[in-house]
Amino acid sequence: MIGKSEKIAVGLSGGKDSATMLYLMKKFFSDVDIVAISVDEGISGYRDESIKKAEEFCKSINVEHHTVSFNDKLGFSLDDIKTDNFCTHCGVFRRSLLNKKAYELRADKLAVAHNMDDEVQSILMNIFRGDILKFQRLGAKPPSIGDEKLVPRIKPLRDIPEKEVKLYAILNSIPYHDGECPHSFNNVRRDVQKIINDMEERYAGTKFQIISFYDKINPMVRPSSERVLGRCKMCGEASSAGICRACVL
Ligand code: SF4
Repeated sequence: MIGKSEKIAVGLSGGKDSATMLYLMKKFFSDVDIVAISVDEGISGYRDESIKKAEEFCKSINVEHHTVSFNDKLGFSLDDIKTDNFCTHCGVFRRSLLNKKAYELRADKLAVAHNMDDEVQSILMNIFRGDILKFQRLGAKPPSIGDEKLVPRIKPLRDIPEKEVKLYAILNSIPYHDGECPHSFNNVRRDVQKIINDMEERYAGTKFQIISFYDKINPMVRPSSERVLGRCKMCGEASSAGICRACVL
């Protein structure tokens, strides 16, 4: 996933997964240039706390830290949006801002802290939605897209169950924010998470089996050629449609 002397931008929310990922990368990759990026979506009583933790952590391990906020870049915060589906808006805008900042910082890769539980949820969610395009693009190192404005994403924690990430963070006294997003209820991911955790409880190893199934099937469903994107008519960012998802929303 990571080449010698590369510059890696780490998406750092300040939660256990991203803090542990940053800690591990700093510990094992001494010849890699690491920079952290936090996105402040504007979720009052939640994100302000986690970004404070992220800032302090970066300072303590000597990592350059940047924060980009919805308010500064989009002109509104997540709390301002009138919707019953905060996570969709949050995910689209956050991905867009993270990518833009990583590109601006000339990062070779953007590391996101998806753990095994997140990946298993994504696999099943894409099956439930019949979204083969997104299904093809999962994995620790998704297939590259031939567009210089899209920084390739990597998921270093993708094969580690959430509980183990948490245990590692506690055992190594990694500081992280343990709050829960007030908008995290009533979303599909949460429902899928419940189903998988229930299956794992009753049939130990379910999560590993789903990941292993995906890794076996992925070479058969991966696109054979690099996807080439056009430009969004409104913002000029890379997009497979005339107007990118962030501008549509
Ligand atoms: Fe955003 Fe949803 Fe995560 Fe909250 S739970 S930070 S709204 S994606």
